[in-house]
Amino acid sequence: MAGNYDTGDLVEIAGADARKITTVLRKRTGDTIEVIDSGARRFRAALRLDGRRVQAELREVLPAAEARLPWRVVVAQAVPKGAKMDFVVEKTTELGVAEILPFSCERTIADGTAAKLERWRRLATTAAQQCGRSAVPQIGDPQTFETLVAQFGEFDAVLFPWELSRMTPAREQLPQLVERANSILVVVGPEGGFSGDEAARAAAAGAHLISLGTRILRTETAAMVILAFLNYLA
Ligand code: SAM
Repeated sequence: MAGNYDTGDLVEIAGADARKITTVLRKRTGDTIEVIDSGARRFRAALRLDGRRVQAELREVLPAAEARLPWRVVVAQAVPKGAKMDFVVEKTTELGVAEILPFSCERTIADGTAAKLERWRRLATTAAQQCGRSAVPQIGDPQTFETLVAQFGEFDAVLFPWELSRMTPAREQLPQLVERANSILVVVGPEGGFSGDEAARAAAAGAHLISLGTRILRTETAAMVILAFLNYLA
């Protein structure tokens, strides 16, 4: 319904919506429906029907409907230096990540990960509240590349962005990789990137090596870009 409203307001429902309410759903006066205004506010409303005239009295504001991704997306992030992981936690939470797995690999230089874990978990909670998410992403305990690769089989699709992979545009590659997936694991490398051996082991374990284009993105940018692609596809 066009415009912004508040509880107690009486709104006219016309056209196809009115016909649907009276002839398809066969609603009666007093029955309740859900309506959404231009500000994306959701209301429970009580109907008043008089012949073909349909009005709805807004009774109660309902919590915002959370748009969930059609996949359970898990981001495994090679822990970067300093506070960059804070950025990754915040941005991937806003973009709908279900779980974040910090890991270390050959070129990881970051340390003190365990001490930062509680901070990342607090950040995920704040970021979820800020963007209106009820489900706060879990942050897994730090693990090694080896233990991470051993979990690849638990996912329908494993996306392994590697700057040295064949330059197939994501718009060509990604849709078909996630088309039939319910769960997706995204594995992002550290500042120094993955070694050729790590990329080979990942591919051997079923991961899809993907390119994010010709520009080399910072480690804290890569997961955000892939989640943005997935939100677009969703
Ligand atoms: N030295 C930079 C830094 O300090 O952040 C680059 C980091 S490195 C390339 C970070 C990770 O981001 C890589 O391991 C890979 O997972 C991903 N990445 C960055 N640019 C990419 C690209 N163009 N294609 C595929 N993956 C990319």
